[in-house]
Order: sequence, then C-alpha cells, then structure tokens
Amino acid sequence: MIPKQKNYDVVIIGGGMIGSSVAWFLKKHFGFAGSVLVVERDLTYEFASTSHTNSCIRQQFSSELNIRLSQYTVEFMRDFPALMGADAPTLKIQNFGYLYLAADAGQAEALRQAQALQAKLGAGTAILTPDEISALYPFYHLDDIVLGALNTKDEGYFEGSTIFEWFRRCGRDAGVEAVENEVVAIGRDGRKIQDITLKSGEVIGAGVVVNASGTRASAVAVLAGFAPLPIEARCRLTYIIAAENPPQQAVPLTVDPVGFHFRTYGTDGRHFMVGIPPADDVARGADDFSMDHDFWQEHVWPLLASRVPCFEAVRLAHSWAGHYAFNTLDQNAVVGLHPDCDNFIFVNGFSGHGLQQSPGMGRGVAELILHGGYRSLDLSPLGVVRILENRPYLETAVI
Ligand SMILES: Cc1cc2nc3c(=O)[nH]c(=O)nc-3n(C[C@H](O)[C@H](O)[C@H](O)COP(=O)(O)OP(=O)(O)OC[C@H]3O[C@@H](n4cnc5c(N)ncnc54)[C@H](O)[C@@H]3O)c2cc1C
Repeated sequence: MIPKQKNYDVVIIGGGMIGSSVAWFLKKHFGFAGSVLVVERDLTYEFASTSHTNSCIRQQFSSELNIRLSQYTVEFMRDFPALMGADAPTLKIQNFGYLYLAADAGQAEALRQAQALQAKLGAGTAILTPDEISALYPFYHLDDIVLGALNTKDEGYFEGSTIFEWFRRCGRDAGVEAVENEVVAIGRDGRKIQDITLKSGEVIGAGVVVNASGTRASAVAVLAGFAPLPIEARCRLTYIIAAENPPQQAVPLTVDPVGFHFRTYGTDGRHFMVGIPPADDVARGADDFSMDHDFWQEHVWPLLASRVPCFEAVRLAHSWAGHYAFNTLDQNAVVGLHPDCDNFIFVNGFSGHGLQQSPGMGRGVAELILHGGYRSLDLSPLGVVRILENRPYLETAVI
C-alpha cells in the first residue's frame, strides 16, 4: 500500500498496540491537526507481540513509574466509553489477582520492598505467610515457600484486544492513515531525520519519526544511523489447559519462583493458562516462532503439578510461541528522543509488560511530539540516555 501524501508531520513505524496508541492519542485525544502515517509491515498482526500477549495487568511492579503507568491504565479503562465515544464498550478487569511466591530470604525481601512501595502508591498488595496463602487458596503445595505477595484489586486479565481495536478504529476516524508496507531505510542529516524509504520504493518526508517496531526496534534504530539497542526478541511459550478436577475457585496469576506462571483462563472454571520461557532463553530471530513440542510434557507439566497437585489431570488444549521485545539492560521500556537527534522518538523494549503500559506510553509520546516534553506522567527515567550510559532503571518484577 502506498501512502496518499509525499510528506507527513508524524510517521510511526509499527502499528501494534504501542504505535496505534501513539496515533490515537495524537489525533483523537489531543486533536493534533497535522498528518499522521502508520507504516505496518503486516496489518494482520499475525506475528506481532500484541497478538501473542496474555493481556494481564498488575500493580505489583518494583519501580514507581511502572506502578503509576498501570494505575493510569486502570483510569483509562474506567473512562473508556467517554474517551472513545458513546458506542465503545465498558471494560472490566477480571480481578483474579497476582500471587508472587518467594522461596528464599532474598526473594522474600524483594517482595517486601516492592510491597512497601506499592502500598505507598495506593496499591492493595499484602504479604502473606504460607499458612495464610493456604487458607485462601488450599490447592497449592507450598512446602518450599517462605512467603507470598497478593493483590486482587486492579490485577488480572483485561481486554487488551478490544482496546487495540478501538485505538485503530477511532484513530482512523480521526484521520490517522495506516498502510501495509515496511520501512527499509531512514534518511538522517545530523540532528534531523528527513525521510523514510518504503519497501515499495517511495521516499516519504517525515517531520517526526516514532520507532514503535516491537522486536525489530534495534534494527530500526540502526536504519536511522544510531547504535543498536539492547533489545532482542525472546520467545515466551503459552499453554492453555483443561483440568479434570480444577480448583473450585479462581487461580491468581501465580508467579512461581521456579520460573513459570499460571492462572485461571476464561470464566468456565476449567481452563488455565501457563507461561514459561523455553529451555534456551536466548535472542531469537524476529521471524522464528518454532516450539519444542515435547517441552510441555517433559518439563512444564511436572513443574505445574508439583505446585498444584490437582493439575496432574489436565489436557493440553492449545499452545503458542510469542516474542517479548526484551531489554537486556533492565527489562524496562525505552522511550523518548535520542540525544543526538531532534525528531526520532523511541518507544520500545517493553519486556513483557507493554500491553498494559500502552495508554501511558501513547499519551507520553504524543505529549512529547506536541509540547516537546511530558505533561502528565514524567517518563524521562525510561529515556534513551540511561541505555547509552549503561545505567539500568531496574524492574525486578519481570514475568
Ligand atoms: C507471550 C506474551 C505474553 C505477554 N503478556 C503480557 C501481559 O500479560 N501484559 C502486558 O502488559 N504485556 C504482555 N506482553 C507484552 C505485550 O504484548 C507487548 O509489550 C506489546 O504488545 C508490544 O506492543 P508493540 O506495539 O510494541 O509491539 P508489536 O505488537 O510487536 O508491534 C510492532 C509492530 O511493528 C511492525 N514493524 C516492525 N518493523 C517494521 C518496519 N521496519 N516497518 C513497518 N512495520 C514494522 C511489526 O510488524 C509489528 O506489528 C506479552 C507478550 C508476549 C509475547
């Protein structure tokens, strides 16, 4: 698809959840009068992280900014019909909560510190002993656990795909142009990006370029003449199971210290979702979604059944491999202008928590474009400079 114009005020590379949020905030929410083009290499989104997501939200982060971003998403969902238009649905969070389990003193201390920060910011996280966990959720096997952190308010599944659809639909109605094409070159003259080149050959002038290209973020940065980013595609496996004798209550998204997580899936009480990295958790090619089909039987199922014995009787219903855009420096987003350039904005590296951060990121990047700085939530701790200076803004609660 060829863009209608030769020049755009803003060109967004990548039309996944993040690029679509930036476009919506600019045109619909803030009423930007300029032209906005989204270039997306696959408008079916078959391989985008946005399509492989588990779509959960939590307050249980270890860094203040990530907690505040989730709190804004809760607010955004509450106001969804007012923001999108009267025919937009009301959104609810399926509040089964998150339960982080600690198996040693170091993990327990990290949970206690995170809980103190979360409580200061108004989140309802509680620290529980194994006996207290068993009283609430008798189905766990907890012999190796020293404590847990639980929050069942504003934590659980949310309808990310509905938000994605409305970002795109309302964005388009507000004048965002989206084309299926690929950015293959970026023209830069010193501090200014001049244009982008499409795979189909056209050169399109750009006032501002936003890099929202997910797992390809580093390759796109290199196209603009910047050093590569420490962001790589990392495979994450998702399994949907049906249980013969399921627990008789919702299972919180349980973050097991052994290195996997599981939760209630859907509302029929029989299905559950399990997420885990593959045995070799290394950088993947952006197009490599291969899966070891014995991994479930040989590795994941035994782990699951040792934590929840009634999961010894389950049937694997469905599974898929997806990619995190994984920031190897500090597992946090990279957002903002490059210090060597006045009109190239990064919004990348979400390391598995980008869906829930999309409203705050879209709003922040739109503010940066419109005002030259953040107006609501200061995203500068997540700026590019920390990457260049190798100064992590560490998030320890990464799933
Ligand atoms: C298994 C799994 C579970 C997850 N669970 C959660 C969760 O529970 N909660 C949560 O908040 N987050 C979760 N995430 C993370 C979340 O899904 C992502 O952070 C989010 O979807 C990222 O959106 P994005 O727009 O940055 O990337 P993407 O959705 O990958 O979109 C980037 C787009 O850029 C396009 N593109 C790339 N290069 C070019 C180019 N040169 N030209 C044109 N287009 C280009 C791609 O085609 C792609 O569509 C999960 C992710 C996975 C994989």
